[in-house]
Amino acid sequence: MSSTATEPKEEQGAEDAPLTDGFHLVIDALKLNDINTIYNVPGIPITDLGRFMQAEGMRVLSFRHEQHAGYAAAIAGYLTKKPGICLTVSAPGFLNGLTALAHATTNCYPMILISGSSEREIVDLMQGDYEEMDQLAIAKPHCKAAYRILHAEDIGIGIARAIRAAVSGRPGGVYLDLPAALLGQVMDAAAGEKSLVKVIDPAPAQLPAPEAVKRALGVLKDAKRPLIILGKGAAYAQVDDDIRKLVETSGIPYIAMSMAKGLLPDDHDLYAGAARSLVLKESDTVMLVGARLNWLLSHGKGKQWGTEPKKFVQIDIEPKEMDSNVEVAAPLVGDIGSCVSALLDGMGKDWKKPPADWTDAVKAKRDSNVEKMAPRLLNNNSPMDFHGALGALKRIIADNPDTILVNEGANTLDFARSIIDIFKPRKRLDVGTWGVMGIGMGQAIAAAVETGERVLCVEGDSAFGFSGMEIETICRYNLPICVVVFNNGGIYRGTDVNPSGGDDVATTVFVKDARYDKMMEAFGGVGVYATSPDELSQAVTEALKSGKPTLVNAVIDEKAGTESGRIGNLNPQSVVSKK
Ligand code: ADP
Ligand code: MG
Repeated sequence: MSSTATEPKEEQGAEDAPLTDGFHLVIDALKLNDINTIYNVPGIPITDLGRFMQAEGMRVLSFRHEQHAGYAAAIAGYLTKKPGICLTVSAPGFLNGLTALAHATTNCYPMILISGSSEREIVDLMQGDYEEMDQLAIAKPHCKAAYRILHAEDIGIGIARAIRAAVSGRPGGVYLDLPAALLGQVMDAAAGEKSLVKVIDPAPAQLPAPEAVKRALGVLKDAKRPLIILGKGAAYAQVDDDIRKLVETSGIPYIAMSMAKGLLPDDHDLYAGAARSLVLKESDTVMLVGARLNWLLSHGKGKQWGTEPKKFVQIDIEPKEMDSNVEVAAPLVGDIGSCVSALLDGMGKDWKKPPADWTDAVKAKRDSNVEKMAPRLLNNNSPMDFHGALGALKRIIADNPDTILVNEGANTLDFARSIIDIFKPRKRLDVGTWGVMGIGMGQAIAAAVETGERVLCVEGDSAFGFSGMEIETICRYNLPICVVVFNNGGIYRGTDVNPSGGDDVATTVFVKDARYDKMMEAFGGVGVYATSPDELSQAVTEALKSGKPTLVNAVIDEKAGTESGRIGNLNPQSVVSKK
């Protein structure tokens, strides 16, 4: 199991006990804990660490920019419930990875950012070292926990702490600082092996209190118009069968937050996604399962939620989440698996389903909304509009439900979220809690690497720009990823004009008729230029069949799209200048 460093051993001569070093202790500690995939950008002082990792049989994927290695690690954590590892160089590389670490923490994804760092003695006296920075201090506010290891004999315990911090309780990002000198430190190989720690039960079950379960069931029993909201915490928990059983046994209509789509198939009889406005407004009782009442749910109050007071039941592993925005009548603190099975036990066989006038009204509204939308999704306009293009992709996902959909953009995100149905758990990966742009290629790469499934990455042209260079990474590892760039020539739209009449184009506008497909060809992948839903459909079908790295440049009408997609209301308004 344990590997020994060859160089120090040779220096010592044959009769001496074998030695190991910091590099190999890090590798052995990770492998002992079943961590075998690393997302990294090589450089000083971690280039050799990546090389040795690969030599020791780990999968080490090198990116072109740390932010994307970080987003890959973060979503790997979400998909696997093990911390995704991002490995970076010091100062600038560390800072590039830090956005992803903060994103992982915000989204409750387990991730460890491991960064090499410069010599403590010089950093702490601010004497101007190569890439000098007090990384530990800078990381702290952006993660669940931050640690630095100074001695080789502490590597085992340091990595154990990082793993446990990332996955236990509410998952999140952890920073681990490895000074260059640590990696070269030498110690006796046998003592080194003994110093390693295999983390036992890293994310222990957290049982809800029996009274809390009873209280929650009481609130649900009294409800006349109940609603369940599934969030990505529920998807993360990987207790898919029990969640389905809970929804079906309760008979309560549900909606799914974007990454919880597919936990139950989007064509489920109790799914109220297409009646979202109605159920938020009209429900009298809402049970949140691994979803927070943050901005994505208008904080649980205001116009969207109607005028009648509502009772909330909330399942969450984080006690501080309760009453975060509105009063929670029945907090159920514990891990989702334990909470859901306790509720199921309590419901028993003769649980009374909600009144039919409520469930019927929800289904009627849903069906009429779906019917209204249907013809728009069948148009074959050229250039495409969002509905025509996404209608084509919706049909492809329905035929290929194992495909993982990665999605970012403004209009591209908002329309795809509601148009493309998802049929299996954890098949939709998007911008998450922050609505961050730039997750695209990193998440697509990790999704392909961690699951072996085909990945369809639906990107606004602006969103794609943040991580576009990583298509070289996709080609280099020959990953089965099809990127579709919804190219409307700009941010939100391609039609804005410079209000001053000057020579520069408007701030939101890109090069006209950009050929993103040619970027893919430059790296040996397949590039397709598609101007109609039929062409788009053909190209994506072919890409999913072949598994070849593909980029489809989907030409969208530059007039299609609205300011900031569906969240234009979050823009402040100026009283001085009017748009
Ligand atoms: P969404 O964006 O889908 O609404 P959020 O990220 O807002 O999802 O909410 C996820 C919630 O799930 C967080 O409050 C987190 O604490 C919780 N959570 C994550 N994993 C678990 C788990 N295994 N058990 C219980 N709650 C969890
Ligand atoms: Mg655009």
